[in-house]
Amino acid sequence: MDKEKSPRKDRLFYEQKNGHLLIDKKEAARVESYCKGYMDFLDAARTEREAVREGIRLAEAKGFVPYKAGMKIAPGMKLYHANRGKALLLAVIGTKPLSEGSVIAAAHVDSPRLDLKQLPVYEDSHICYFKTHYYGGVKKYQWLTIPLELHGVIALKNGETLDICIGRDKADPIFQISDLLPHLAKDQRKKSSEEFVPGENLNLIAGTIPDSEEVGDRVKLAVMALLNRKYGIIEEDFLSAELSAVPAFETREAGLDRSLIAGYGHDDRVCAYAELAAIFETENPEKTAVCILADKEEIGSEGVTGMKSRAFERFMDALCDAQGAKLSDCFANSLCISADVVNAFDPVYPEVSEKRNAAQINCGISLCKVSGHGGKSGSSDASAELVARLRRIFADNAVVWQMAELGKVDQGGGGTVAVYMAERNIDTIDAGVPVLSMHAPCETVSKLDCYMTYKGIKAVYGEK
Ligand code: MN
Ligand code: MN
Repeated sequence: MDKEKSPRKDRLFYEQKNGHLLIDKKEAARVESYCKGYMDFLDAARTEREAVREGIRLAEAKGFVPYKAGMKIAPGMKLYHANRGKALLLAVIGTKPLSEGSVIAAAHVDSPRLDLKQLPVYEDSHICYFKTHYYGGVKKYQWLTIPLELHGVIALKNGETLDICIGRDKADPIFQISDLLPHLAKDQRKKSSEEFVPGENLNLIAGTIPDSEEVGDRVKLAVMALLNRKYGIIEEDFLSAELSAVPAFETREAGLDRSLIAGYGHDDRVCAYAELAAIFETENPEKTAVCILADKEEIGSEGVTGMKSRAFERFMDALCDAQGAKLSDCFANSLCISADVVNAFDPVYPEVSEKRNAAQINCGISLCKVSGHGGKSGSSDASAELVARLRRIFADNAVVWQMAELGKVDQGGGGTVAVYMAERNIDTIDAGVPVLSMHAPCETVSKLDCYMTYKGIKAVYGEK
């Protein structure tokens, strides 16, 4: 007999179980079909603009309509509001008045990437390059030699905006950043990884064929002529462009058992999609359900489309106004799930995590009571009562979940939009999908965790 088996231990100890041991075949099938939808979403949403566009497309198909100023608000109504094409707010109006609060889930749809500089095009040694400025926390060496796509917009002086997408289509060319051959990397290898790829080395190769005109910068001239033929643009138009180089990887199933999903931008589109899927299935909630897809989280939630922007207040205030409710009452009685990814414990690098308190792959949606760094600095530190409320909701709805922390104490740290929601006097807690290789060009998540995050958010929206 297994000496470790003890009913008293079973009763008294907390044990985190692998979610695959807790779900039945029917649930496993739901995990699969949910993840198919997510993988399609991730492939369609490589930037925050594309995520918002895709979010609106899906929302409209589910009966959501754009909110219009002065609209009469009735329970059950499904509304959305896009903020400058880069952030999205959705709401399903509850049967209770907004003065009694709303239930909010807030994810972000921007991901680490390489943005083109405002004057990116130059030629050196018969090669034309686009200069970049990295966006978000990246390990620069990971972006060398991988295939990259170019996504974004060029806003013209005449008011027109051109959508650019090069590399997504299999027939398109891709872009690449070069790296040194190992044969000549003696000095490079001695440098720390912070130093060996200077930010100014992240230049995309854009072309190598010279123009027939015998002038200086002939390759750049040929590249500009090509862009002019295709898009009608001149170099000055780059000044008012937002173009991002993102990994040109298809989202793929990973592992022999296909239990994982490898792809670019799980952080945080995996939670954004979970929110969307959850609110799409939320009919006549008691409290108004609100789904936020925010921009700019990776650079501190700044800007008009970031979570610090009052665009959120404006939308919520309009809904409150329509019911004669005060926004401050609504916020004070609201709950917010700051739906963002957490680091999954990685047994290859156990030294940065404290295993007992780290999120594990396949153990479900991960609640993070505390984030920040050092002595919990920069964290909104959710209350015990809020954690208990979620324990209750998850238990009632068979949601596989776990508690998480971002690495060992004093190992580093990070933040999410949680602090900006808590600042508004909204009870807020971080919860999301554990990720391996977070912020790498290709990140890994488990299908079960993706599904449980959706299921968890849906359960919170449906709280009675
Ligand atoms: Mn994130
Ligand atoms: Mn991130």
